[in-house]
Amino acid sequence: MSGASVAIVGASTAGAAAAYALRAEGHEGPVVLIGAEQTAPYERPPLSKDVLTSADDPQPLWLLTPDTYVSTNIELRLGAAVTSLETDGSRFRLALADGARLSADTVVLATGGRARRLDVLPADPRIHVLRTWADAQALRTQLRAADRALVLGSGLIGAECAASASSQGVEVEVIEAQHVPFPSLPSHEVRGALLRTFAQHGVTFRTGVTVTGCQAGSDGLIVSLSDGNVIETDLIVIGIGVEPMTGLADQLGAETQRGVLVDDRMRTSVPGLFAAGDVATRRIGDRLVRHEHFASAQAQGAAVARSVVGLDPVAPPAAWAWSDQFTHRLDVVGDPQGGTERRLRRGDDGSLVEFSLAGSRLVGVTALDAHRTVRDARRLIGGVLRAPAEGLEGNDVPLKQLVSTP
Ligand SMILES: Cc1cc2nc3c(=O)[nH]c(=O)nc-3n(C[C@H](O)[C@H](O)[C@H](O)COP(=O)(O)OP(=O)(O)OC[C@H]3O[C@@H](n4cnc5c(N)ncnc54)[C@H](O)[C@@H]3O)c2cc1C
Repeated sequence: MSGASVAIVGASTAGAAAAYALRAEGHEGPVVLIGAEQTAPYERPPLSKDVLTSADDPQPLWLLTPDTYVSTNIELRLGAAVTSLETDGSRFRLALADGARLSADTVVLATGGRARRLDVLPADPRIHVLRTWADAQALRTQLRAADRALVLGSGLIGAECAASASSQGVEVEVIEAQHVPFPSLPSHEVRGALLRTFAQHGVTFRTGVTVTGCQAGSDGLIVSLSDGNVIETDLIVIGIGVEPMTGLADQLGAETQRGVLVDDRMRTSVPGLFAAGDVATRRIGDRLVRHEHFASAQAQGAAVARSVVGLDPVAPPAAWAWSDQFTHRLDVVGDPQGGTERRLRRGDDGSLVEFSLAGSRLVGVTALDAHRTVRDARRLIGGVLRAPAEGLEGNDVPLKQLVSTP
């Protein structure tokens, strides 16, 4: 395999990690990293945080330095989406939007996701999604001039945008279709603590309603809601989730399940075609899992490289997503929904941790401002309690004394 050519489609977190790891694992053949965006691979997490709030002119945080592409001989092709992917069973042929044609022995799909839009909203430059550096620049510029912002959705991106806009002095209202704010957060207590902070900053929530229409006027946007109310705003941020970019996998007839289906070696159902990151759905036991988190995309990039060079998989790290909202750090580790029993730890410092247990096994942690416990939890998910579960509630005992290493 080491002389074979590898084309990685999608030049972002998973794609850059895969390209780098291929070289680290000793792959000697050509590696081309192809990205639809004009920008070299950068970290997306700051886009909804520092990039929106910093007073200085923000710059992308590069995932690999420019020198690294040269020293590791990774060919980077930017601003050129792959529009077609074919295979004759042994080699792949790729057509790029700039007219170029490539071929490769192996293809890694790291195409991630696109931000979902709402059909009821018109095309208007004041209506934003936030996925790319270009999206963040446009939103940042308008937030500086805005008095009011409407955020649709209170998942992690929506909540972060609401917090960032509010901390810029913008009056923010959040529309959430579910009946509770932050519905994807697995802990009732953590949701409550976050909501109190948002309320203290004057961010208001309307839950159980959806947007039914929007009139774009010269003074602002007039948004109609399903409960009959109307809101006037200067800009809208749509934060209602991500659609995995499975189009190229579909062209080859690869199996998809709300993402490109991969096995424990990141192989799709098409020989020679792999997938990693937000676009990949993995079968774990009898469950199908697709993560949309930075750390998972990085880990899957490394895992797909191991697989391409023929190494056995290593156990994936516990899933981990973080979010920064106002001064809070929120962390979700493992699979909090997978537990049957919950234990809450309230720290004297205001931190909050909800442990999720399946029998005596620690399967998930949802935490607010609990850095040390989160650091330990990332190693201990899957471990078994050494003491009665009530011990988790005592905030003076380090987690590693209470849970065995898995
Ligand atoms: C604003 C924002 C904030 C975030 N904050 C956090 C956070 O705080 N914590 C956290 O854990 N995670 C966070 N995430 C999620 C994290 O950034 C993603 O999970 C991660 O970037 C996924 O990486 P990926 O490489 O799989 O996909 P993506 O980052 O989506 O990259 C896919 C790339 O593929 C390109 N592409 C798609 N189709 C083609 C094609 N046909 N040809 C060529 N290129 C193509 C796309 O243009 C894109 O550049 C955040 C995401 C966003 C958008």
